[in-house]
Amino acid sequence: MIVVIGGGPAGFFAAITARTFRPETPVILLEKYNDVLRKVVISGGGRCNVTHDCHDPRELAKRYPRGGRELISGFHRFGPSDVANWFDDHHVPIKIEADGRMFPESDSSASIVEALLVSAQKIGVEVRKRCGVVGVQFNRDEGNFSVELDTGRNLECQQLLIATGGQTSGDGFGGLGMAADLGHGIQDPVPSLFTFKIQDSLLHDLAGVAVQEVAVKAVVPGLPKKGLLETGPLLVTHWGLSGPAVLRLSAWGARAMAEADYRFQLRIDWCPNLTHNDLGNLLTNWADDNGRKQVAQSPELGLPRRMWLALLQKFGIDRETKWAQFGKKNLARLVEKLKTTELEVTGKALNKEEFVTCGGVRLAEVDFKTMESRLVPGLFFAGEVLDIDGITGGFNFQSCWTTGFLAGKGMGE
Ligand SMILES: Cc1cc2nc3c(=O)[nH]c(=O)nc-3n(C[C@H](O)[C@H](O)[C@H](O)COP(=O)(O)OP(=O)(O)OC[C@H]3O[C@@H](n4cnc5c(N)ncnc54)[C@H](O)[C@@H]3O)c2cc1C
Repeated sequence: MIVVIGGGPAGFFAAITARTFRPETPVILLEKYNDVLRKVVISGGGRCNVTHDCHDPRELAKRYPRGGRELISGFHRFGPSDVANWFDDHHVPIKIEADGRMFPESDSSASIVEALLVSAQKIGVEVRKRCGVVGVQFNRDEGNFSVELDTGRNLECQQLLIATGGQTSGDGFGGLGMAADLGHGIQDPVPSLFTFKIQDSLLHDLAGVAVQEVAVKAVVPGLPKKGLLETGPLLVTHWGLSGPAVLRLSAWGARAMAEADYRFQLRIDWCPNLTHNDLGNLLTNWADDNGRKQVAQSPELGLPRRMWLALLQKFGIDRETKWAQFGKKNLARLVEKLKTTELEVTGKALNKEEFVTCGGVRLAEVDFKTMESRLVPGLFFAGEVLDIDGITGGFNFQSCWTTGFLAGKGMGE
């Protein structure tokens, strides 16, 4: 018998795959809550960003701050096009958006959930809800596992998959406790994909303002001096900054930022596509041609007007000054400030769109051909319980489908 702990995407995909390869073996999936696939339901704002249109395994691996290298061979065996084909075969056509993210054509996560539920039912996976696991033991002599349930009962099985997801809060007995009890090392779990708390006058009253492209650098103690750099859209929130550039920084710097207690310096370049010289020339020409206009009238820098005015105020520049009176010294200072605005991050806030766990079961102790433990024969892992996490864009589900497939096949063969 095969027991799968965790009714998330990794557990479901592994259970379905295991039955596909070994239809005669009973597969039982245990979920502690009343609902399965809860994160899939809310994912991608209810649309479920199932994967990403990136088909070169090495390129795909670069989207994973942790686990990318280990996943490369798995992506060759079950990559984004296999995911799209699988859902297509289960009556859920998948579309690609302009930025590469892939969603069900229905734009509804319900179709992904239904495909998994129907497939599991048809193939004979027994799903037991409200069935939490509170203990696991391995009997080395007999080569089997004893799984202790919160109902007070026990299950015996020859193969056990832990797919209990990420774990950063004290959410009861999770997969990390089980893995540790069975002898596995754990990378301490900390959050990834969070937004930055910043209390700076610049951002007052700007909540909701988005800037198309900035370069954001995080200078975090413990990271290389040159800092982490990401380019992309930026969004001002009620408590600080968010947007793709910030979320990517939070993923790459997750551990160092946690160690710095989320206190570090952020340096923003508001004009990443212009060098200091180019920006200087652009502003000089603008000042020459628009001498009578006020500084409040910004040149074409791609910044929303409210942000431009707030930046002038932060830099101590009177917005009513005419460009003709602005002077070379002020202009040089403005260039300097626009290329590097320093803000202090004082904490993190939850990104409601998507968040994951950095840390989990140590990857060196898992064989990535089958996802079987290198320490305990018959024990398998899949999904976010592993020390794997990706940036936003469908990469976190992709690692669940890939590791779920490998584990299911590993258990089934
Ligand atoms: C709001 C939000 C939106 C997201 N959107 C996207 C997106 O669009 N695209 C993307 O790629 N990623 C997205 N993610 C990330 C993605 O949802 C996760 O990476 C993914 O769900 C992990 O799957 P999993 O199967 O490993 O774990 P989970 O989905 O966390 O499932 C684990 C399951 O195990 C159960 N469990 C835990 N402990 C026990 C126990 N002791 N006994 C029995 N059962 C147990 C849990 O109740 C849970 O149901 C999003 C995350 C969030 C929070």
